[in-house]
Amino acid sequence: AKSAGGAGWALYDAERDNREQARQALSAAIPGGLERGEFYLDYQPLTSLQDGSVLGVEALVRWQHPQLGVLRPDSFIGLAEETGLIVPLGSWVLAEACREAVGWSAATGEPPYVSVNLAVRQLRRPDLVQEVCSLLRHTGLPPNRLQLEITESMMMSGAEEPVRTLRALADLGVRIAIDDFGTGYSNLAYLRDLPVTELKVAGEFVRGLRAPEAADERILASLVSLAHALDLTVTAEGVETVGQAERLRAIGCDAGQGWHFGRPAPADHILARLR
Ligand code: C2E
Ligand code: CA
Ligand code: CA
Repeated sequence: AKSAGGAGWALYDAERDNREQARQALSAAIPGGLERGEFYLDYQPLTSLQDGSVLGVEALVRWQHPQLGVLRPDSFIGLAEETGLIVPLGSWVLAEACREAVGWSAATGEPPYVSVNLAVRQLRRPDLVQEVCSLLRHTGLPPNRLQLEITESMMMSGAEEPVRTLRALADLGVRIAIDDFGTGYSNLAYLRDLPVTELKVAGEFVRGLRAPEAADERILASLVSLAHALDLTVTAEGVETVGQAERLRAIGCDAGQGWHFGRPAPADHILARLR
């Protein structure tokens, strides 16, 4: 590539400039998009591996962009985290999820809880507890029907503030899940110290569940016994086939999430399945 000379570098720089400009333009459009109601939530079921009931649903944000069409979170969440816009966007997601979930009912048993992804910036804000508290009060959603998903890396900064915030949230009765479990740090001490209620095991372990006794199956089996020893439930992510679901049930995993059980879809679609 060196032989391309100066022109090559100029071309490269121009491309990077364009990409950076496009990123900045997208980021700058988030507040307007929020105002105009361009964001919406899809929901994906967390299904019991024991009886097939829908235990919960995860809220996954989408952006109906006027020019670019529907954008998946991977194309704007990172940006929103960098710029801090994840705070207003995350507040909107929390409020919308609670507002929608309060009307859900099940044909039998408990209505499903709604599981909301939390960004590290949100967890660092001292007023998050107050925000969740007043959301629950205003919508009337029972606290145990809200789950907050945090990632392992969020707990690894060593900072006291997020830990205090999580404890206060758990004291409200809100569920706390560790998202993408197994992909971050292997320091498990935080499981002892934090008020966690659920582990969501990353899909990459589930993908390896082809042959019985495969390494991934042994890893999953020990994660399940670790979790159960700590009184936590385990949800496996990225379950795409009936074979994977069967192996997970055999291992004792509590719930599954993935295309095999249902793709992310608007709330009314999920609700129709509950009845
Ligand atoms: P995640 O929390 O790990 O969410 C699960 C992702 O896996 C979703 O991607 C979902 O559509 C996808 N998925 C579900 N089942 C399967 C399957 O069987 N196979 C495969 N290959 N994939 C499956 P999505 O909706 O594109 O979201 C991507 C990520 O964006 C999420 O990963 C989450 O980290 C983040 N995200 C989504 N919504 C929010 C939000 O409201 N706030 C924040 N902070 N992050 C969010
Ligand atoms: Ca998640
Ligand atoms: Ca995940």
